[in-house]
Amino acid sequence: MTAIATLGSHCSLQVLKGAKDEGLKTMLVCEKKREKLYRRFPFIDELIIVDSFKEVLDQKCQKTLEENNAVLIPHGTLIAQMSSEEIESIKTPVFGNKWILRWESDREMKEKLMREATLPMPKPVTEPKHIEKLVIVKRQGAAGGKGYFMAANEDDYNTKRNQLISEGILSKDETLYIQEYAAGVLAYLQFFYSPLTNELEFFGVDQRHESDIEGLGRIPAEQQMKSTKVPSFNVIGNSPLVLRESLLDEVYTMGENFVEAAKRVVSPGMNGPFCIEGVYDENAKFTSFEFSARIVAGTNIYMDGSPYYSLLFNENMSMGKRIAREIKTATESNQLDKITT
Ligand code: ATP
Repeated sequence: MTAIATLGSHCSLQVLKGAKDEGLKTMLVCEKKREKLYRRFPFIDELIIVDSFKEVLDQKCQKTLEENNAVLIPHGTLIAQMSSEEIESIKTPVFGNKWILRWESDREMKEKLMREATLPMPKPVTEPKHIEKLVIVKRQGAAGGKGYFMAANEDDYNTKRNQLISEGILSKDETLYIQEYAAGVLAYLQFFYSPLTNELEFFGVDQRHESDIEGLGRIPAEQQMKSTKVPSFNVIGNSPLVLRESLLDEVYTMGENFVEAAKRVVSPGMNGPFCIEGVYDENAKFTSFEFSARIVAGTNIYMDGSPYYSLLFNENMSMGKRIAREIKTATESNQLDKITT
């Protein structure tokens, strides 16, 4: 029997519940400090207790996973806590394409893939002195928005960067990425691509709630102007969104273009769940500032199934369950190689 394993964080509950519902064994690599939390959930069959998630790279942990025929489901925590080299060195089969995760973590590679997929992107700004419009300044990797800031010009950039360095939020030698700020309605478009059926499924949309940029909107301008605090984009949670139906066709096209582009640049392509993240402006034009090449935490809002999956499946289907279904189908038809790397 195949087991499903993941790191205890991000969307692990959804992933393992989905796996259990599909009749698969569930394993959680769990930090000691979170053991009490995860013991509350009876659908987790086995906890592998570690001091740090990096232990997933150790032989001992990989041996346990191997003995259970485990498939590892990558999520944001894996990317945030491990280097691309470390992820690529994992011996346990990783669901989807572990090689594309490097394209998610590295800003230049990310931009290249998005351009290849013809996604409309905000203009990158190569140097602070070239800041002409409002920009957002980001860190490398999946930092979850922590330490990101907005700047109106070079002076503003330097002041805020220095302030965040003095507060210990940024380090002095950190390479920052500057991009024009896109204003509008946030929409994180969640997809699943199956190499078994060669079909792209649109799962749902979420919005992220980020602190304390959202908190700013609750304060009158007078107080905002007096504040010297640099607001951050630290994600706190997600909420659901449904799109105007007239936007759906373009959503599928963007997803398909992304899948095709990924096939061309990073074999075996964008298999499994992924997300295109961006903003709809006043003309309903989408600008994408980011993609995630694996399950996103925003799918947690649809643990009982999403509005768009209820159109495709006559059962409650979460993203966790969809992943487990794919693994089950592939195992039964001897095609596990096709959906793991
Ligand atoms: P993830 O955890 O998804 O990997 P990340 O650290 O790579 O996140 P982004 O998703 O690029 O970061 O940005 C974090 C947040 O900053 C977004 O959710 C969005 O609110 C805001 N943001 C990023 N880029 C832009 C942009 N160009 N215009 C407007 N808002 C933006």
